Amino acid sequence: MMKKPFVTKEQIEEIVKTYPTPFHIYDEKGFMDNARKVNEAFAWNKGFKEYFAVKATPNPFIIQKLKEAGCGVDCSSYTELMIADKLGFRNDEIMFSSNETPAGEFKYCNDLGGIINLDDITMIEAMEEECGIPETVSCRYNPGGVFEVCNGIMDNPGDAKYGMMPEQIVEAFKILKEKGVKNFGIHAFLASNTVTNEYYPMLAKTIFQLAVTLKKETGADIKFINLSGGVGIPYTPDQTPNDIMAIGEGVRKVYEEILTPEGMGDVAIFTEMGRFMMGPYGALVTQAVHEKHIYKEYIGVDACAANLMRPAMYGSYHHITVLGKEDAPCTETYDVVGSLCENNDKFAIDRKLPKIDMGDYLYIHDTGAHGFAMGYNYNGRLRSAELLLKEDGSVEMIRRAETPEDYFATFDFCDIMK
Ligand SMILES: *Cc1c(COP(=O)(O)O)cnc(C)c1O
Repeated sequence: MMKKPFVTKEQIEEIVKTYPTPFHIYDEKGFMDNARKVNEAFAWNKGFKEYFAVKATPNPFIIQKLKEAGCGVDCSSYTELMIADKLGFRNDEIMFSSNETPAGEFKYCNDLGGIINLDDITMIEAMEEECGIPETVSCRYNPGGVFEVCNGIMDNPGDAKYGMMPEQIVEAFKILKEKGVKNFGIHAFLASNTVTNEYYPMLAKTIFQLAVTLKKETGADIKFINLSGGVGIPYTPDQTPNDIMAIGEGVRKVYEEILTPEGMGDVAIFTEMGRFMMGPYGALVTQAVHEKHIYKEYIGVDACAANLMRPAMYGSYHHITVLGKEDAPCTETYDVVGSLCENNDKFAIDRKLPKIDMGDYLYIHDTGAHGFAMGYNYNGRLRSAELLLKEDGSVEMIRRAETPEDYFATFDFCDIMK
């Protein structure tokens, strides 16, 4: 499938008059339509709610929009809870899925009325000490082993640090019930970036079966099942995008097969997608500023791994379109690189692209989730601005670019950098 940018060269030439490259830009119409579709796909389930994984795109302007589309938030840290707090999320609009949770975070979540999703049985005590026992608690499950979907996509829960083993989650439910918890939830995240409509239904089957067992063995009142994240996006042009309607329908079938006959037809389905909600609806726009011809052909751009870490960190593929050359033949083979003193600072390696001239704008696809968010400051490089392309076609800055003052802000206790 052809990957098409959501902005044109002409639009970018207008935008850079106000906001210089590099920047991440997000497509409001794209992510809002998608969010509406997610809700439609699960409309068969009365209590359905998508809790957007804040860590994927921790920008309050974006999260505000998703709130308007009916989403809650899934937070993993104190500062993410602060975003939820400021935007007015309360009670069952907040899921708190943390691990190795630092002191003070359970209390903050509980003060907001949010739902605590315990990663481990030992966290019951930590939670109780901090904020007592809430009425509603969720527990995270890890079945171990490997998790395989029909098309071969798999992950390795047995190697993952998250969640409780089967015997532990039974024990945790018993303890929590004894301590007065009234409403229970179950959560599991077993595979990441799955590009197949089979993942959620297969995961659902695993958790639904567990839910039936837990109800029988502990008498717990299971109110919701959280399928978490892991629904992927097609980073490469040859992948077929997930069909969220088919995914919702797949989960419905398993629900009616396993939960409904057990008298559990009122259990709410929750999701915590990040990548699927935002990934395709963001792009990193950067300008070609240098070319270098040594053993290989290099194109140097004004963005670097500090703006988008995924290629350096995981070797991830991000498709690149040279704006204005969408239909030009890919006659060249380039490494597209940033300025870090790190040889993994490469947005693309041996990539077939049209001939790039200095000044060309490169559109790096699918940076809407886990893109800007993973940014860092190595080499003293600064994080870029974030822009929102609104449904009416106008552009709004939703985060300014960092300045050297931001970089040195943590020396504000003394005069050394004044
Ligand atoms: C990261 C994360 C998500 C979101 O994952 P995606 O792959 O972006 O969908 C959801 N839930 C938890 C607990 C996470 O850690």
